[in-house]
Amino acid sequence: MKCRRCGQEAEVEIRSHHTAFCRECFFVYFKRQVQRAIKDWQMLRKQERILVAVSGGKDSLTLWDVLLDLGYDATGLFVDLKIDGFSEKAKEKIEAFAQSRKAKLIIVDLEKEGIPIPKVMKHTGKEPCSVCGQVKRYYFNHIAYTQRFHVLATGHNLDDETSRLLANLLRWQMFYLVDQGPVLPPANRLVKKVKPLYRLTEYEIAAYAFLKGIDYFAERCPFSQGATFLKYKHYMNLLEYDFPGTKLDFYQGFLKKMKPFLTPLQKEEAPIAHLCPQCGYPTLAPVCGICRLKEEIKKAGI
Ligand code: SF4
Ligand code: ZN
Repeated sequence: MKCRRCGQEAEVEIRSHHTAFCRECFFVYFKRQVQRAIKDWQMLRKQERILVAVSGGKDSLTLWDVLLDLGYDATGLFVDLKIDGFSEKAKEKIEAFAQSRKAKLIIVDLEKEGIPIPKVMKHTGKEPCSVCGQVKRYYFNHIAYTQRFHVLATGHNLDDETSRLLANLLRWQMFYLVDQGPVLPPANRLVKKVKPLYRLTEYEIAAYAFLKGIDYFAERCPFSQGATFLKYKHYMNLLEYDFPGTKLDFYQGFLKKMKPFLTPLQKEEAPIAHLCPQCGYPTLAPVCGICRLKEEIKKAGI
């Protein structure tokens, strides 16, 4: 197979676009997809300070890599969950990447914060991903706001977005559908959130990371087994295999045909929050969920 741009031997086939690229032309294609996402949704500006949420996996390190290559002021943020045999290895990869790119990195140590994820799970008995997601969201927002970043960027890709869309549509979760999209505007003390990789699949990102030599952390979190989002990804992959281009059509169709009707609901449905008296985070409760969690764990002496 030949590269569509230059006619040399192709290294990456993109079935959804009925095309293939050699290594260098694939990098050009990839960066154009990111630039298009940024431009179409006015995600970022060159003078802004961007906080990139990094887990050590291919998506977040690739996002960080591309943003740095494109000349953005992008600082990494790693929330060290303190999951045995997992978090430490992820941290090593991130630190090595930051050093190799001379990029700024912020690390939040959940042990020091008093809420390492295994302890939180033991205490609450809740499903791991739901508590973990809540804790990570808190620190992403909190660090972005308190350290005066303009935007928080995450490595969500087309697979993440379409599997979430499918799950939300199957249950008509209007509240979640309203919030779904490549950009979430700022509200209260929450900074603007963007997903510059939303046009790219996991496969394309894995190919980019591999060809670019990004040394990412490939192990799955031990708590991800049986997670429902993996099932929805699997079903989307089956559809994509039989009908290449389904994921992009599905998501672009949602953004063009349904999102405009949902955007006005965003304002109506957004609950009005006040600020936590202990940490200043927006909350509907007298004290925010994370400050409550810290107190409970401290009292329980786990
Ligand atoms: Fe957290 Fe779940 Fe992701 Fe593991 S799989 S890092 S528990 S959200
Ligand atoms: Zn608080």
